[in-house]
Amino acid sequence: WGQLYIVATPIGNLSDMVPRAIETLQQVSLIAAEDTRHSARLMDYFQIATPMTAYHDFSDNDKTEKLISSLKAGEDIALISDAGTPLISDPGYRLVQVARSEGIRVVPIPGACALIAALSASGLPTDKFRFEGFLPAKATARVKTLESLKSSDATLVFYEAPHRIVACLSDIATTFGDQREVVVARELTKTYETFLSGTVAEVADKVQEDTNQQKGEFVVMVGPGEQKLTEIDSDTERLMGYLLEELP
Ligand code: SAM
Repeated sequence: WGQLYIVATPIGNLSDMVPRAIETLQQVSLIAAEDTRHSARLMDYFQIATPMTAYHDFSDNDKTEKLISSLKAGEDIALISDAGTPLISDPGYRLVQVARSEGIRVVPIPGACALIAALSASGLPTDKFRFEGFLPAKATARVKTLESLKSSDATLVFYEAPHRIVACLSDIATTFGDQREVVVARELTKTYETFLSGTVAEVADKVQEDTNQQKGEFVVMVGPGEQKLTEIDSDTERLMGYLLEELP
């Protein structure tokens, strides 16, 4: 059987393409791409002549089956998305799920990923983080999702579109309070890469004042709130009882 390679591509700067990704894309029989026209530029740049076929999560089951049959017939296939790591807010889940359940070897070729790039340079805690992908487009659903994340003790990471960045920051301020620490990473690895950090009130002001800060691609990160001790386990409660008895 052939192998399915999950190949990361750059999120802006073409120099972020790793040599192993180029070799893999040159050597496989077929590249399944989110958008073949979009990826044609990358293929030209790296002189990759491998045939491409379109694959996204809305592709019908036949398309998945066809790729699985080709893999079983011994062909190696690479999956790429428009930018970054496939399956991370990008197509591919169904193909990988079926491939694995059929016992086909799935091999990741790691590279750029906006969430990891943003988080690693944000200055926010990275020991525990929660990636939420894109928030809902509609305001009520967005606020509801944010409400559900309010008590999280992890750094929250969101992807956001330029036309919603102002509304998103405003909803974060309303839900989490305008003193919560946020970092907005924009245009990572590109010419106008910017990190804005501070309280959500400060960052929202900076973005609102300058329309240039509303252009491009965004990763929005929210620092963890201060944790309140709301529950005490039974052992601690018993111990506190003993200690209280000893108090004069
Ligand atoms: N699979 C990609 C990855 O590995 O990061 C993400 C794909 S998702 C459809 C696209 C979103 O990722 C953008 O709307 C933006 O939120 C984020 N993103 C992608 N490239 C970025 C960049 N260069 N700078 C900041 N955010 C970026």
